[in-house]
Amino acid sequence: MSQFDPADSPDSTTIFPYHDLTPPEPADVYAARPIVNRHLPETPLVRSELLSAETGAEVYLKREDTLPTGAFKVRGGITLGHRLPEEFREAGLIAASTGNHGQSVAYAGRTFDVPVTIAVPGDPNPEKVATMEQYGAEVVPHGEDYDDAREWAERKAAEDGLRYVHSANEPDLVAGVGTAGLEVLDELPEVDRVVCPVGGGSGAAGYCLTVGAVGDAEVVGVQSDAADATYQAYHEGHLYPQDSVATEAEGIASRAPFALTVELMRERLDDLVRVTEEAIWEGVSDMLAEERLVVEGASASAVAALCRMDVAGETVVVPVTGRNLSSAKLRRAVGED
Ligand SMILES: *Cc1c(COP(=O)(O)O)cnc(C)c1O
Repeated sequence: MSQFDPADSPDSTTIFPYHDLTPPEPADVYAARPIVNRHLPETPLVRSELLSAETGAEVYLKREDTLPTGAFKVRGGITLGHRLPEEFREAGLIAASTGNHGQSVAYAGRTFDVPVTIAVPGDPNPEKVATMEQYGAEVVPHGEDYDDAREWAERKAAEDGLRYVHSANEPDLVAGVGTAGLEVLDELPEVDRVVCPVGGGSGAAGYCLTVGAVGDAEVVGVQSDAADATYQAYHEGHLYPQDSVATEAEGIASRAPFALTVELMRERLDDLVRVTEEAIWEGVSDMLAEERLVVEGASASAVAALCRMDVAGETVVVPVTGRNLSSAKLRRAVGED
Protein backbone atom coordinates (compact mmCIF):
# COMPACT_ATOMS: atom_id res chain seq x y z
CA MET A 1 0.00 0.00 0.00
CA SER A 2 1.26 3.46 -0.90
CA GLN A 3 1.64 6.28 1.62
CA PHE A 4 -1.00 8.07 -0.41
CA ASP A 5 -3.76 5.46 -0.20
CA PRO A 6 -6.26 6.21 2.59
CA ALA A 7 -5.83 4.02 5.68
CA ASP A 8 -8.52 2.67 8.03
CA SER A 9 -9.80 5.58 10.08
CA PRO A 10 -11.40 5.34 13.53
CA ASP A 11 -13.36 8.57 12.91
CA SER A 12 -15.38 9.87 9.96
CA THR A 13 -12.40 11.70 8.41
CA THR A 14 -9.76 10.31 6.10
CA ILE A 15 -6.29 9.46 7.34
CA PHE A 16 -3.23 8.16 5.54
CA PRO A 17 -0.48 5.74 6.60
CA TYR A 18 1.71 8.67 7.66
CA HIS A 19 -0.89 9.70 10.28
CA ASP A 20 0.19 8.34 13.64
CA LEU A 21 -2.81 8.43 15.96
CA THR A 22 -0.83 7.74 19.13
CA PRO A 23 -1.62 10.72 21.39
CA PRO A 24 1.50 12.72 22.23
CA GLU A 25 2.94 12.88 25.75
CA PRO A 26 4.26 15.88 27.68
CA ALA A 27 7.80 14.92 26.53
CA ASP A 28 6.69 15.52 22.93
CA VAL A 29 5.66 19.07 23.81
CA TYR A 30 9.05 19.70 25.43
CA ALA A 31 10.69 18.36 22.27
CA ALA A 32 8.67 20.79 20.11
CA ARG A 33 9.63 23.82 22.17
CA PRO A 34 13.07 24.55 20.65
CA ILE A 35 11.55 24.31 17.17
CA VAL A 36 8.78 26.75 18.03
CA ASN A 37 11.22 29.06 19.80
CA ARG A 38 13.47 29.17 16.75
CA HIS A 39 10.68 30.49 14.54
CA LEU A 40 8.15 32.26 16.76
CA PRO A 41 8.22 34.68 19.69
CA GLU A 42 6.88 33.65 23.10
CA THR A 43 3.52 35.30 23.69
CA PRO A 44 2.61 37.66 26.54
CA LEU A 45 0.51 36.58 29.51
CA VAL A 46 -1.42 39.65 30.64
CA ARG A 47 -3.76 40.04 33.60
CA SER A 48 -7.26 41.09 32.56
CA GLU A 49 -8.72 43.75 34.82
CA LEU A 50 -12.13 43.29 33.21
CA LEU A 51 -12.38 39.51 33.56
CA SER A 52 -10.74 39.47 37.00
CA ALA A 53 -13.29 41.99 38.30
CA GLU A 54 -16.17 40.13 36.69
CA THR A 55 -15.26 36.69 38.06
CA GLY A 56 -13.45 37.42 41.35
CA ALA A 57 -10.55 35.34 40.00
CA GLU A 58 -7.08 36.36 38.87
CA VAL A 59 -7.63 36.06 35.13
CA TYR A 60 -4.75 36.17 32.66
CA LEU A 61 -5.00 36.30 28.87
CA LYS A 62 -2.44 34.25 26.95
CA ARG A 63 -2.05 36.50 23.95
CA GLU A 64 -1.72 33.99 21.12
CA ASP A 65 -3.21 36.66 18.87
CA THR A 66 0.22 38.34 18.92
CA LEU A 67 1.81 35.50 16.93
CA PRO A 68 2.38 35.92 13.21
CA THR A 69 -0.89 34.71 11.51
CA GLY A 70 -2.75 36.06 14.57
CA ALA A 71 -3.68 32.63 15.95
CA PHE A 72 -2.16 29.88 18.10
CA LYS A 73 -2.21 27.21 15.38
CA VAL A 74 1.02 28.41 13.76
CA ARG A 75 2.95 26.79 16.62
CA GLY A 76 1.75 23.44 15.28
CA GLY A 77 2.29 24.29 11.62
CA ILE A 78 5.91 25.24 12.32
CA THR A 79 6.52 22.04 14.27
CA LEU A 80 5.06 19.83 11.54
CA GLY A 81 6.84 21.74 8.77
CA HIS A 82 10.19 21.49 10.55
CA ARG A 83 9.83 17.71 10.90
CA LEU A 84 8.38 17.06 7.46
CA PRO A 85 10.17 14.06 5.90
CA GLU A 86 12.04 14.77 2.70
CA GLU A 87 9.70 12.55 0.64
CA PHE A 88 6.81 15.01 1.13
CA ARG A 89 8.64 18.27 0.49
CA GLU A 90 8.52 18.46 -3.27
CA ALA A 91 4.83 17.64 -3.87
CA GLY A 92 3.92 19.64 -0.80
CA LEU A 93 1.13 19.96 1.74
CA ILE A 94 -2.63 20.14 1.47
CA ALA A 95 -5.12 21.06 4.20
CA ALA A 96 -8.74 22.05 4.59
CA SER A 97 -9.45 25.05 6.72
CA THR A 98 -11.91 27.76 7.61
CA GLY A 99 -8.87 29.98 8.01
CA ASN A 100 -6.42 29.68 10.87
CA HIS A 101 -5.28 26.10 10.26
CA GLY A 102 -4.77 27.07 6.62
CA GLN A 103 -2.81 30.16 7.57
CA SER A 104 -0.66 28.06 9.86
CA VAL A 105 0.13 25.50 7.16
CA ALA A 106 0.67 28.24 4.57
CA TYR A 107 3.06 30.05 6.94
CA ALA A 108 4.96 26.81 7.53
CA GLY A 109 5.10 26.18 3.78
CA ARG A 110 6.68 29.57 3.23
CA THR A 111 9.08 29.10 6.15
CA PHE A 112 10.31 25.69 4.96
CA ASP A 113 9.90 26.29 1.22
CA VAL A 114 7.22 23.65 0.62
CA PRO A 115 4.24 24.20 -1.73
CA VAL A 116 0.84 24.42 -0.03
CA THR A 117 -2.76 23.98 -1.19
CA ILE A 118 -5.62 24.97 1.11
CA ALA A 119 -9.26 23.99 0.52
CA VAL A 120 -11.68 26.48 2.05
CA PRO A 121 -15.49 26.42 2.27
CA GLY A 122 -17.38 28.32 -0.46
CA ASP A 123 -18.13 31.27 1.82
CA PRO A 124 -14.83 31.76 3.64
CA ASN A 125 -13.57 34.61 5.79
CA PRO A 126 -12.15 36.75 2.93
CA GLU A 127 -9.34 38.28 4.98
CA LYS A 128 -8.12 34.84 6.05
CA VAL A 129 -8.05 33.73 2.40
CA ALA A 130 -6.08 36.81 1.39
CA THR A 131 -3.49 36.09 4.07
CA MET A 132 -3.07 32.46 3.00
CA GLU A 133 -2.45 33.67 -0.54
CA GLN A 134 0.02 36.23 0.74
CA TYR A 135 2.00 33.38 2.31
CA GLY A 136 2.10 31.79 -1.12
CA ALA A 137 -0.55 29.08 -0.73
CA GLU A 138 -2.94 28.11 -3.48
CA VAL A 139 -6.45 28.55 -2.06
CA VAL A 140 -9.27 26.46 -3.53
CA PRO A 141 -12.87 27.18 -2.46
CA HIS A 142 -14.91 24.00 -2.29
CA GLY A 143 -18.34 23.10 -0.90
CA GLU A 144 -20.53 24.79 1.68
CA ASP A 145 -18.82 24.15 4.97
CA TYR A 146 -15.51 23.09 6.45
CA ASP A 147 -16.26 19.38 6.16
CA ASP A 148 -17.10 19.65 2.43
CA ALA A 149 -13.75 21.34 1.86
CA ARG A 150 -12.09 18.69 4.03
CA GLU A 151 -13.48 15.81 2.01
CA TRP A 152 -12.28 17.43 -1.20
CA ALA A 153 -8.80 17.96 0.23
CA GLU A 154 -8.66 14.33 1.37
CA ARG A 155 -9.50 13.09 -2.14
CA LYS A 156 -7.03 15.49 -3.73
CA ALA A 157 -4.28 14.36 -1.34
CA ALA A 158 -4.79 10.74 -2.45
CA GLU A 159 -4.98 11.60 -6.16
CA ASP A 160 -2.02 13.94 -6.34
CA GLY A 161 0.22 12.39 -3.68
CA LEU A 162 0.21 15.40 -1.36
CA ARG A 163 0.87 15.28 2.40
CA TYR A 164 -2.55 15.86 3.98
CA VAL A 165 -2.25 17.96 7.11
CA HIS A 166 -5.22 16.87 9.20
CA SER A 167 -6.52 19.55 11.56
CA ALA A 168 -6.30 17.31 14.64
CA ASN A 169 -5.02 13.79 13.93
CA GLU A 170 -1.44 15.07 13.85
CA PRO A 171 0.79 14.55 16.91
CA ASP A 172 3.15 17.30 15.71
CA LEU A 173 0.34 19.86 15.63
CA VAL A 174 -0.80 18.96 19.14
CA ALA A 175 2.77 18.96 20.50
CA GLY A 176 3.51 22.27 18.77
CA VAL A 177 0.46 24.13 20.05
CA GLY A 178 1.14 22.64 23.49
CA THR A 179 4.23 24.84 23.79
CA ALA A 180 1.87 27.69 24.79
CA GLY A 181 1.10 25.71 27.94
CA LEU A 182 4.81 25.40 28.77
CA GLU A 183 5.14 29.17 28.49
CA VAL A 184 2.19 29.56 30.88
CA LEU A 185 3.83 27.18 33.38
CA ASP A 186 7.08 29.17 33.26
CA GLU A 187 5.39 32.43 34.09
CA LEU A 188 2.46 31.37 36.22
CA PRO A 189 3.17 27.98 37.84
CA GLU A 190 0.33 28.61 40.31
CA VAL A 191 -2.31 28.49 37.55
CA ASP A 192 -5.45 26.64 38.75
CA ARG A 193 -7.45 26.48 35.55
CA VAL A 194 -7.24 27.01 31.82
CA VAL A 195 -10.46 27.66 29.89
CA CYS A 196 -9.88 26.94 26.23
CA PRO A 197 -12.11 26.88 23.12
CA VAL A 198 -12.46 23.51 21.40
CA GLY A 199 -13.00 22.91 17.71
CA GLY A 200 -11.06 19.79 16.81
CA GLY A 201 -9.39 19.92 20.20
CA SER A 202 -5.70 20.38 19.37
CA GLY A 203 -5.38 23.53 21.49
CA ALA A 204 -7.10 22.05 24.55
CA ALA A 205 -5.12 18.82 24.16
CA GLY A 206 -1.93 20.90 24.27
CA TYR A 207 -2.96 22.51 27.56
CA CYS A 208 -3.89 19.07 28.97
CA LEU A 209 -0.35 17.84 28.24
CA THR A 210 1.26 20.83 29.95
CA VAL A 211 -0.60 22.80 32.62
CA GLY A 212 -2.82 19.73 33.16
CA ALA A 213 -0.18 16.98 33.21
CA VAL A 214 3.05 18.72 34.25
CA GLY A 215 1.27 21.27 36.45
CA ASP A 216 -1.91 20.40 38.31
CA ALA A 217 -4.31 22.87 36.72
CA GLU A 218 -7.75 21.87 35.53
CA VAL A 219 -8.30 22.28 31.82
CA VAL A 220 -11.85 23.03 30.70
CA GLY A 221 -12.83 23.06 27.03
CA VAL A 222 -15.62 25.11 25.47
CA GLN A 223 -17.77 24.56 22.38
CA SER A 224 -20.67 26.44 20.85
CA ASP A 225 -23.99 24.68 21.41
CA ALA A 226 -24.53 25.21 17.67
CA ALA A 227 -21.48 23.03 16.81
CA ASP A 228 -21.02 20.46 19.54
CA ALA A 229 -19.79 17.30 17.78
CA THR A 230 -16.66 17.16 19.91
CA TYR A 231 -18.66 17.88 23.08
CA GLN A 232 -20.88 14.89 22.29
CA ALA A 233 -17.89 12.70 21.46
CA TYR A 234 -16.11 13.65 24.69
CA HIS A 235 -19.12 12.97 26.90
CA GLU A 236 -20.59 9.97 25.07
CA GLY A 237 -17.39 8.20 24.04
CA HIS A 238 -18.18 7.90 20.34
CA LEU A 239 -16.86 9.61 17.20
CA TYR A 240 -20.10 10.33 15.34
CA PRO A 241 -20.18 13.28 12.94
CA GLN A 242 -23.18 15.62 12.79
CA ASP A 243 -25.14 16.62 9.69
CA SER A 244 -24.57 20.34 9.98
CA VAL A 245 -23.24 23.06 12.23
CA ALA A 246 -24.85 26.42 12.87
CA THR A 247 -22.13 28.42 14.61
CA GLU A 248 -20.85 31.63 13.07
CA ALA A 249 -17.56 31.13 14.92
CA GLU A 250 -15.71 29.43 12.08
CA GLY A 251 -12.68 28.53 14.24
CA ILE A 252 -14.79 26.00 16.14
CA ALA A 253 -17.17 24.92 13.36
CA SER A 254 -16.49 21.24 12.76
CA ARG A 255 -19.17 18.64 12.12
CA ALA A 256 -16.82 15.75 12.91
CA PRO A 257 -14.96 14.75 16.08
CA PHE A 258 -11.38 13.57 15.61
CA ALA A 259 -9.93 10.35 17.01
CA LEU A 260 -6.57 11.50 18.36
CA THR A 261 -7.71 14.62 20.19
CA VAL A 262 -10.93 13.06 21.53
CA GLU A 263 -8.91 10.17 22.98
CA LEU A 264 -6.47 12.56 24.57
CA MET A 265 -9.22 14.81 25.94
CA ARG A 266 -11.24 11.89 27.32
CA GLU A 267 -8.15 10.86 29.22
CA ARG A 268 -6.93 14.25 30.39
CA LEU A 269 -9.48 17.06 29.95
CA ASP A 270 -11.36 17.92 33.15
CA ASP A 271 -14.57 19.08 31.51
CA LEU A 272 -16.03 20.25 28.21
CA VAL A 273 -18.88 22.75 28.38
CA ARG A 274 -21.06 24.60 25.87
CA VAL A 275 -22.08 28.23 25.46
CA THR A 276 -24.74 29.82 23.27
CA GLU A 277 -24.03 31.74 20.08
CA GLU A 278 -25.49 34.81 21.76
CA ALA A 279 -22.99 34.55 24.62
CA ILE A 280 -20.13 34.13 22.13
CA TRP A 281 -20.93 37.29 20.18
CA GLU A 282 -21.55 39.23 23.39
CA GLY A 283 -18.05 38.09 24.40
CA VAL A 284 -16.59 39.43 21.14
CA SER A 285 -18.26 42.82 21.71
CA ASP A 286 -17.18 42.99 25.37
CA MET A 287 -13.57 42.14 24.57
CA LEU A 288 -13.57 44.86 21.95
CA ALA A 289 -15.38 47.51 23.98
CA GLU A 290 -13.70 46.90 27.32
CA GLU A 291 -10.35 45.18 26.67
CA ARG A 292 -9.88 46.89 23.31
CA LEU A 293 -8.99 43.48 21.86
CA VAL A 294 -10.20 42.06 18.57
CA VAL A 295 -10.96 38.39 19.19
CA GLU A 296 -12.65 35.82 16.99
CA GLY A 297 -15.92 34.19 17.98
CA ALA A 298 -14.04 30.95 18.57
CA SER A 299 -11.80 32.71 21.07
CA ALA A 300 -14.67 34.56 22.76
CA SER A 301 -16.40 31.25 23.50
CA ALA A 302 -13.89 30.75 26.31
CA VAL A 303 -14.55 34.22 27.69
CA ALA A 304 -18.28 33.53 27.58
CA ALA A 305 -17.82 30.23 29.43
CA LEU A 306 -15.51 31.75 32.03
CA CYS A 307 -18.06 34.45 32.87
CA ARG A 308 -20.58 31.68 33.62
CA MET A 309 -18.26 29.65 35.92
CA ASP A 310 -17.73 29.86 39.64
CA VAL A 311 -13.99 30.54 39.73
CA ALA A 312 -13.73 33.14 42.54
CA GLY A 313 -10.31 33.04 44.21
CA GLU A 314 -8.68 30.96 41.44
CA THR A 315 -5.87 31.84 39.07
CA VAL A 316 -7.23 31.31 35.58
CA VAL A 317 -5.70 31.52 32.11
CA VAL A 318 -7.78 32.11 29.01
CA PRO A 319 -5.92 31.88 25.71
CA VAL A 320 -6.80 34.54 23.16
CA THR A 321 -6.67 31.94 20.41
CA GLY A 322 -7.13 34.22 17.42
CA ARG A 323 -7.70 37.78 16.28
CA ASN A 324 -8.76 37.15 12.67
CA LEU A 325 -12.32 38.41 12.96
CA SER A 326 -13.76 39.20 9.53
CA SER A 327 -14.40 42.88 8.80
CA ALA A 328 -18.13 42.19 8.59
CA LYS A 329 -18.18 40.66 12.08
CA LEU A 330 -15.94 43.39 13.40
CA ARG A 331 -18.42 46.00 12.20
CA ARG A 332 -21.22 44.07 13.86
CA ALA A 333 -19.25 43.87 17.11
CA VAL A 334 -18.81 47.65 17.13
CA GLY A 335 -22.55 47.94 16.59
CA GLU A 336 -22.34 49.37 13.09
CA ASP A 337 -24.97 47.03 11.74
C1 LIG B 1 -8.82 26.49 15.50
C2 LIG B 1 -9.24 27.52 16.47
C3 LIG B 1 -9.79 27.17 17.70
C4 LIG B 1 -10.06 25.73 18.09
O1 LIG B 1 -8.88 25.00 18.16
P1 LIG B 1 -8.87 23.41 18.01
O2 LIG B 1 -7.47 23.04 18.19
O3 LIG B 1 -9.41 23.07 16.66
O4 LIG B 1 -9.77 22.89 19.07
C5 LIG B 1 -10.09 28.17 18.59
N1 LIG B 1 -9.90 29.47 18.29
C6 LIG B 1 -9.39 29.86 17.10
C7 LIG B 1 -9.21 31.30 16.84
C8 LIG B 1 -9.04 28.89 16.16
O5 LIG B 1 -8.53 29.27 14.99
